[in-house]
Amino acid sequence: MTQLIQDINYHRFLPEELHQDADNLVDYFTYAPFEQPTACPYCGNPHFTGGRDDKKPYWCGRCQRAFSAHTGTPFANCRHHELWGAYAASRLSGLSWKKVSESIGLSTGACKYREKVFNQEMESQFPVLFQWWHAHQERHDLTLTPEVDVQHQQLQSWLEQLRTQPTATCPQCAAVSVRVKETRPDFRCHHCQSSFSLLAGTPLVKTWYMELWPEFLNGLVTGESAWDLSRRLGVTNKRLYQWRRSFLQVMEDKGLDALLEWSRWQRSRRYSQVTKLTREGVEFPVPGRSRMNRRKSRKVQQPEDQ
Ligand SMILES: [Zn+2]
Ligand SMILES: [Zn+2]
Repeated sequence: MTQLIQDINYHRFLPEELHQDADNLVDYFTYAPFEQPTACPYCGNPHFTGGRDDKKPYWCGRCQRAFSAHTGTPFANCRHHELWGAYAASRLSGLSWKKVSESIGLSTGACKYREKVFNQEMESQFPVLFQWWHAHQERHDLTLTPEVDVQHQQLQSWLEQLRTQPTATCPQCAAVSVRVKETRPDFRCHHCQSSFSLLAGTPLVKTWYMELWPEFLNGLVTGESAWDLSRRLGVTNKRLYQWRRSFLQVMEDKGLDALLEWSRWQRSRRYSQVTKLTREGVEFPVPGRSRMNRRKSRKVQQPEDQ
């Protein structure tokens, strides 16, 4: 089981200063369920003896009660104590309950109970970790960890460069070529007369509206859905699903793994948030018409208006 825990990267979404707390929390869940009792959980008597009951192998002579090592602890009424450490590590690694129940083989009901214990113990023993964790789980706090932030800035600078760079090196003859379009990174080489785009061969080659990319990326990183972004950007959500795939592919191609995983994690958190709010009766406005349609409809409407 400890091998399983070592394979789970539960540090990946946590800022570095919380790694030690996370290690201690996982250790606590790994070892605490196997600790021997030091006193009777009912009366506090430290001089108890062994009993005859297999399930409750300790006997307190003072209060005349049998108990087990788990009586009065958060681990009572649970089986598979060897899975507690993996449960905690999996949750900290950003996996949802459903995924955790699949990966370590516990029922949804069992995970629900463990979730309660996991949160209670984290809150009482590691309040700073709990605060950070809870705020990011519930998306009350959308700040990135320093590592993710650096990768986010790196990608934003690349987009900025694509939008503004006035010249580029010709891939055919290496001459300095000039930009021919303000809205696309398209260049023309006057030396060999060839045209080229800096987006050729990248996942963004068929993605338009470059001016919206920075805002789209901000939303993507904080887990916003295609519908959320569609409302803000005025691009159809169908198109934004494609954008999402393309941008995640760019992250992968550029080796921005922390950013990629973070975006996926926050997306799953936003999904849970919307599901919960919808269940509570919150209605989300349907996105307006896309920019493309607006432009078309304006052209059609003009004769009637005059
Ligand atoms: Zn007792
Ligand atoms: Zn050239």
